[in-house]
Amino acid sequence: MAFAGGLWHHPAMVGSRLRIQERFVSLQGEGMLVGVPSAFIRVAGCNLRCQWCDSPQTSWAPVGEMTAVDELVAWCARGPRHVVLTGGEPLLFPAMGQLSCALRANGHHVTFETAGTVWLEGAAADLMSLSPKLAHSTPHARDPEAAVKHETRRLQPEILRRLMANYPWQLKFVVRTSALELAADLREIESLLGELKVCPQDRGRVLLMPEGTRPELLSGAYESLVQTCIERGFRLGERLHIAIFGHRPGT
Ligand code: SF4
Repeated sequence: MAFAGGLWHHPAMVGSRLRIQERFVSLQGEGMLVGVPSAFIRVAGCNLRCQWCDSPQTSWAPVGEMTAVDELVAWCARGPRHVVLTGGEPLLFPAMGQLSCALRANGHHVTFETAGTVWLEGAAADLMSLSPKLAHSTPHARDPEAAVKHETRRLQPEILRRLMANYPWQLKFVVRTSALELAADLREIESLLGELKVCPQDRGRVLLMPEGTRPELLSGAYESLVQTCIERGFRLGERLHIAIFGHRPGT
């Protein structure tokens, strides 16, 4: 690390750039830090193609402005302590690792939001927010060729285990809420938790979030997950940003 202009910089990040789709300050809308003021940096580029991707500008049709990593560090220094590195898939990019180290050296709390399918050497995080994608994410109807690749990549238990062993973590699952579909999603979740050897006392770090981006449907969707969470010891995952702002970029 080098110290310049009052901020720590990772030596390897000099000249490093990332394609940034958007950056903004808001409240964390999901997970265990819901409600915490946070700066969000969303990188363009993803190795998955979820059917219902809520940020297609980072996956199906990536767009963004090439931005120097040191500019991102300086931008974060003017904002909240909590920084969320998201995407797309932030763990695909070595410069994200450099950015995360510099941010932590400057006193920020860093969350990576990731599907947990790739390992990034040198990433620094206070929270790995892991969101493994269930079978209903596969875009069979939308793009059969992409569906084949997505299906082979979407669950990587070895990588998830390694991330969980090396960082504080939470697991977030987007689930469907009709009885039959929820039962199928829960079977897949329980099977994965078994593979990951998640112990009973850690089930409170597993969040179920209802699918959908229509604020008016959220309260009914939450209600349909209450009994499941009570019975299985999962946490009900809020989607605060959708309840407050609707499904809008920059929130
Ligand atoms: S992993 Fe995230 S960014 Fe990538 S396609 Fe799925 S929802 Fe979109």
